[in-house]
Amino acid sequence: MIDRRSFVFGAAGLGSLAGFGAARTDAAAGGVPSAAGGVAVADLPGEFDVVVAGGSCTGVFAALTAAEAGAKVALVEMSGGFGGTATQGLVPVWHSLHSTDGKRQIVGGLTESVERELLRRGEAKREHPTNPSVGTYLNVAGLQLLLDEMVAKQKSVVPFLHTRLAAAECDRAGHVTAAVVADKSGLRRLRGKFFIDATGDADLCRYAGLATWKLPKAEMQAHTTCAILSGADGIRRKHPGFGFNEITKPKYGAKLEHVFGWEAPVVGAQGLTFLAYTRVSSCDPSLPDELTRAEIEGRAQLRRIVDAVNRAFPMPEGERLAVVAVAPHVGLRESCHVEGLYRLTTEDLLYGRRFDDAIARGSYRVDIHEGAGITFRYLDGREVRQVVKADGSSEWKSGRWRRDTEDLPTWYEIPYRSIVPKEAENVLAPGRALDCARDAYGASRVMVNCNQMGAAAGRAAANALKHGLVAPKAFAPGNGPA
Ligand SMILES: Cc1cc2nc3c(=O)[nH]c(=O)nc-3n(C[C@H](O)[C@H](O)[C@H](O)COP(=O)(O)OP(=O)(O)OC[C@H]3O[C@@H](n4cnc5c(N)ncnc54)[C@H](O)[C@@H]3O)c2cc1C
Repeated sequence: MIDRRSFVFGAAGLGSLAGFGAARTDAAAGGVPSAAGGVAVADLPGEFDVVVAGGSCTGVFAALTAAEAGAKVALVEMSGGFGGTATQGLVPVWHSLHSTDGKRQIVGGLTESVERELLRRGEAKREHPTNPSVGTYLNVAGLQLLLDEMVAKQKSVVPFLHTRLAAAECDRAGHVTAAVVADKSGLRRLRGKFFIDATGDADLCRYAGLATWKLPKAEMQAHTTCAILSGADGIRRKHPGFGFNEITKPKYGAKLEHVFGWEAPVVGAQGLTFLAYTRVSSCDPSLPDELTRAEIEGRAQLRRIVDAVNRAFPMPEGERLAVVAVAPHVGLRESCHVEGLYRLTTEDLLYGRRFDDAIARGSYRVDIHEGAGITFRYLDGREVRQVVKADGSSEWKSGRWRRDTEDLPTWYEIPYRSIVPKEAENVLAPGRALDCARDAYGASRVMVNCNQMGAAAGRAAANALKHGLVAPKAFAPGNGPA
């Protein structure tokens, strides 16, 4: 029962969901459902040990590891399936599980076991097992089905799909008592002892009034609407000059302001291509209007790209480039970060600093989608930048971001303290909302890193509950990377 001191926060939560302005889950009402300001919030009976908001692999792995350690977990996801950017954004690459020299496996745990299972099913292809810039191509539909199976098998995880976290209730600053979610029944309250914010946008933290920060939108990483296309292979055979990088040139009329994009095979499917060639820059997706703009602009760019290809590289009817699937959600590279106990610096990452509370290891390069092109910085000191030429084409420039070549690290670490929001007693924020400097974020944000952060958050939550610890103290040495 929430007492009179309880309060509700919700930037996009109850306070600002249109028409809900007067709504408060009134402490005095306390009943089921409570109604205040005309909006009813129904109580889900009982209490979860852990409530995880966000069901990408970060959230799913958090839920599964907490449940494995004995917790009863609610797993709340606003879309209809698990997998986050991989499944809702169609992004199909997990980076290498190895150090940059390929000599040491640095990532294991659920990431490795999921990858292995997809490989066994023919739904993943380990094209470059030790190349830190790539790794494994996944069939993301296969990933989504596998995540369903994993969640269904773990009876202590209760999934809530098509359920959006809308507000957080606290009984004191930094101590969350319930997640208020919006689903087809209206608003429901899920009470919990510990909360994991795996929304990527720090939604739960923001709604709970915890400190968050974001870059000016012009400095945020750009966002991309991805798609699955058919016909590209045929065009390539008939028109040797064809390439998606060609189509960014102004002469083709796709009217793109950027030059960087990438494509990938769709594992297990013939003749399909995954395409990530759109770019919505200067957009803060934590603001609802900006997110709407990103969705519409991303799809409009996709339309122009496909039309430009079909104009410039004609094919017979039925063999033209066609859109088979558009990502249900624009792929978001960045929005809000938590103000954590520690901000991971670029030096920490690129010089491979070791942490006694390390929860994830990675070898993927710093990758910043900025300007019209992209910048890569590698652990070995190389820097590669794509720059635009006067004719609208692009070229790659190589240099070094550091001079010395001694003691080159072959992997970096992400510390637990960067996913612990300052002032939070019972909240963690793994995934892309971690507290991280801009350049370091270019590397830390990739999925194999987020997966590990999620699993570690689940273990820490279970540890906190078992030993009565607050979030800052909940890391145990055994909680490190698997
Ligand atoms: C176009 C693109 C290409 C990329 N390429 C790669 C790549 O090749 N390899 C790689 O490893 N990484 C890549 N990344 C980066 C990587 O995909 C993301 O940084 C990573 O997936 C972030 O994981 P996350 O769990 O923190 O967030 P997300 O994947 O964004 O997951 C957040 C989840 O929370 C849910 N959610 C959000 N808000 C709420 C709410 N209020 N209530 C309930 N649920 C909510 C979302 O629906 C989603 O399922 C790419 C990103 C983009 C956009």
